[in-house]
Amino acid sequence: MSPSSPRALRLDDVGAASKRHEVYGTTRIRVGPLALPFPGNFLFLKYIPPVKRWGPYRELTAEEWERILAVLEAAGARMTIGVTAGWVEADGRIVPFPRKFPEAAGVIRGAVDRGLLEVANHGYTHCVLAGRRFLPRLFSGNRTDHREFHDWLPDATHRDHVARAQAILQDFLGRPVVTFVPPGNVFGRATLAAAAEAGCRYVSCLDPGRWGAVPGLTFVDDGDVLALHDRDIVCGGGVAVLDRLVAGRDRAFVTVAELGARLEEARR
Ligand SMILES: [Zn+2]
Repeated sequence: MSPSSPRALRLDDVGAASKRHEVYGTTRIRVGPLALPFPGNFLFLKYIPPVKRWGPYRELTAEEWERILAVLEAAGARMTIGVTAGWVEADGRIVPFPRKFPEAAGVIRGAVDRGLLEVANHGYTHCVLAGRRFLPRLFSGNRTDHREFHDWLPDATHRDHVARAQAILQDFLGRPVVTFVPPGNVFGRATLAAAAEAGCRYVSCLDPGRWGAVPGLTFVDDGDVLALHDRDIVCGGGVAVLDRLVAGRDRAFVTVAELGARLEEARR
């Protein structure tokens, strides 16, 4: 893509319980030119800024979503949101996103109907469920287990998770979901096959083409996407953060599906 091409805007981790369970601390601390080992994953330390690196943080509220939509509308921009379709409770139960966060979900659905938001499949759990490995630990971080589509998981798990997420999101929106965003940029050939099988057409992440071409899928590399996390808004200064990124651009941001459709067209 040329530098003047429109870029897509994407916000991930909506509805992902990793914001609750993914807890790890910094393990190096900078002192002048040295990076010294630091026990950032020891007990409570990993929960305290600046040692704390990811969670816990809260979900965006319906009111914040209203303000996000106002910011997008004012800028003439549209945005894709990567929604993790199932919220993983501490006991391992999975609650569908629209049931866990009904108010936020209602605002999101309205925005999809108005064409302001695209909802992408950002997995079913965002994490590995086996053995409750997603829960925070006493003496170590758990970042690896907050990636859902590791290559070492059985193919059936890839298929099952992609399809369940797709079913929840499509049922909720009453329309097809066409973009897949693998949690944490981790996925294998089985994940891509599952995404194509479930009706996805676009894969959006860092280096989405790493396993080679897949019939029916168009890769939208993060080089053409401004990719954010809900954490950037919740912990990074509120909706004003988004406003600074989208306002006053010559070319307004589009959704990943819109950009993907242009890439698909250009290939023909
Ligand atoms: Zn994510």
